[in-house]
Amino acid sequence: MSTTRDLARVITAHRQHEGAGFIVRRPVPGPGLDLIDPFLLIDELGPIDYAPGQAVGAPDHPHRGFETVSYILEGEMEHEDSAGHRGFLRAGDVQWMTAGGGIVHSEMPSRQIQERGGRVHGFQIWVNLPASLKMTRPRYQEVPAARIPTATSADGKATVRVVAGEALGVRAVIDTHTPISFHEWRLAPGADVTTAIASDQQVLVYVFAGKAIVGDGATVIKDGQLAVLAAGDAVRLRGNDTDARLLLLAGKPLREPVARHGPFVMNTRQQLIEAFEDFQSGRMGEITRTAIAQ
Ligand code: FE
Repeated sequence: MSTTRDLARVITAHRQHEGAGFIVRRPVPGPGLDLIDPFLLIDELGPIDYAPGQAVGAPDHPHRGFETVSYILEGEMEHEDSAGHRGFLRAGDVQWMTAGGGIVHSEMPSRQIQERGGRVHGFQIWVNLPASLKMTRPRYQEVPAARIPTATSADGKATVRVVAGEALGVRAVIDTHTPISFHEWRLAPGADVTTAIASDQQVLVYVFAGKAIVGDGATVIKDGQLAVLAAGDAVRLRGNDTDARLLLLAGKPLREPVARHGPFVMNTRQQLIEAFEDFQSGRMGEITRTAIAQ
């Protein structure tokens, strides 16, 4: 016997400038809301249509103490970091980067989009790490769209891409340090699907196209709204009058002190100061660039 999770609260994303000046929709953090443990930040980038020469990203910057997840819906992003990783992300690809003890990276629209313009749409989610793993070795998992498992409900009205965790009997290929679910659902009108999420996890549902109903109630969650769910062990998602797309995020709350500033998320203020000192003195490394043929 499962218990469907009700809505605890609904948050409407605000718009914010990020990186070198691109605009994101950000439900978390927001006014009076620092994080929804263990999720530190949810940014929807775009969709934005860049003219030639207009595309901007986030050039070289550090991170320590958590994970950044980049999920691309449209466009192309290029990534490189101080550990020597270099990646190219296209629509449907995911990069799950564990900053751990420290990394410097750059996240930019592809050279082609920078030069010729184009559409960019995607997500960046920050997942906190427990105190015991904040200084772990950086890790980089990049999974192309074709390797992300998908599943469809029996009536064909709900489909899911399982980036992390499992749904409708399929399991993700991404390995997470703590139990995390990261699903992208598409719901047609009339879709009604229930997926199990362990009762010790916090569950969030962010709608980024159309409208959906979350839980057994009648409240409609609209494009740009984040539903925070109450206790239970099952999540019910229903379509509304148009096709909907949403992210379902779930994770076990860490329940540890959070000291955060900019690109660093630690447990104490002293650890934050050390992070700034380590970055400024070059101990998080730098990106080594060599000319490459495109
Ligand atoms: Fe970053």
